[in-house]
Amino acid sequence: MKFLRFSDICASGQAQGKRVFIRADLNVPQDDAGNITEDTRIRASLPAIQLALGAGAAVMVTSHLGRPTEGEFRPEDSLAPVAKRLGKMLGREVPLISNWVDGGFEVQPGQVVLLENCRLNKGEKKNNPELAAKLGKLCDIFVHDAFGTAHRAEATTYGIAETAPVACAGPLLAAEMDALTQALLEPKRPLVAIVGGSKVSTKLSILKTLATKVDQLIVGGGIANTFLLAAGKRIGDSLAEPEMVREAQQVMDIMKARGAEVPLPVDVVVADEVSILARANRLSADEVGPHDRILDVGPKTSAKLADIIAHAGTIVWNGPVGVFEYPQFAGGTKMMASAIAHSEAFSIAGGGDTLAAIAKFDIANDVGYISTGGGAFLEVLEGRILPAFEVLAKRAG
Ligand code: ADP
Ligand code: MG
Repeated sequence: MKFLRFSDICASGQAQGKRVFIRADLNVPQDDAGNITEDTRIRASLPAIQLALGAGAAVMVTSHLGRPTEGEFRPEDSLAPVAKRLGKMLGREVPLISNWVDGGFEVQPGQVVLLENCRLNKGEKKNNPELAAKLGKLCDIFVHDAFGTAHRAEATTYGIAETAPVACAGPLLAAEMDALTQALLEPKRPLVAIVGGSKVSTKLSILKTLATKVDQLIVGGGIANTFLLAAGKRIGDSLAEPEMVREAQQVMDIMKARGAEVPLPVDVVVADEVSILARANRLSADEVGPHDRILDVGPKTSAKLADIIAHAGTIVWNGPVGVFEYPQFAGGTKMMASAIAHSEAFSIAGGGDTLAAIAKFDIANDVGYISTGGGAFLEVLEGRILPAFEVLAKRAG
């Protein structure tokens, strides 16, 4: 997919003296007193801002924060704490501008201002055309750098990309686009996907889309339980969705018809409860009793999956293969994480609990790309073209 890159625009001197509007994702968690508890997203927004400042642009940055009601300002929805933290990181004052939609504020080349929570503007969510037109007039160059909102078509994520004189991808968004393209559109084969987690129903469209693309589709966690049911196995008291058995069968059929496969667990780790005190037992996948709950894949399965991963050209990972939050049931996910870390393949991973597993098993530096956008990442896996990608490609002409 073709799109303009802000880094190229800066490198060629085209941002010099220009008004640059950056849509960042500064939606950081805060405690009840409004203190920022985790600032990864602010840190991640720095490259785009520094690029713009270095290129001699007058820089405006905005983001959403929380879920305010449009047109109704409450102090807790303010980006004020973010402006402060951003200022500290940049080593300069970052003024916060309220009521900015109609302009009337000053920002000189070499300066940066933060524009108050964009979700306070009436018409933001529905991408109101008049709002979008006003946003476009505020700038010469629009920079989309918020992958976490790339699956939404709002005024600051889509409308402004249509109305601004130039619309391009910031370094964060461009990195996501590059990684997703490399993994899904131009993958080195074999392409192996791992889809784990709790429920088939939440990931059915992902499974179906991946089934048409990948060479091997590893299912894990509660999802694998439903596939085991579909394969006629007994799964006792395990988390599963019997009403999804037909869909699971369909996914296996799609793969089979392409000469690809869905390797199912041959052994499992069971317990009679999900708790820190639970006693774990290893069983063959044919030996599961009526009161057993399958909470992880067994060591034989782990070894088999690790072998598949070791021979992959590209790996896409979403979802743990067991209840990795408890050490008794973490073995499968840990083994997989380690196999991904050691693999020569290009790997991409995303999803809330997947990121937690990556942190827990400390492999962040060994994954090719870790996606920052939960919902947006999953929608790409579903085969959707995200609004942000679509509009930036259209503007690149
Ligand atoms: P992600 O957030 O990465 O997309 P999910 O939210 O789909 O992943 O699933 C993660 C959850 O699935 C974890 O909390 C994990 O405990 C749970 N899980 C994994 N395996 C099983 C299993 N066999 N039975 C029940 N829950 C499971
Ligand atoms: Mg989750």
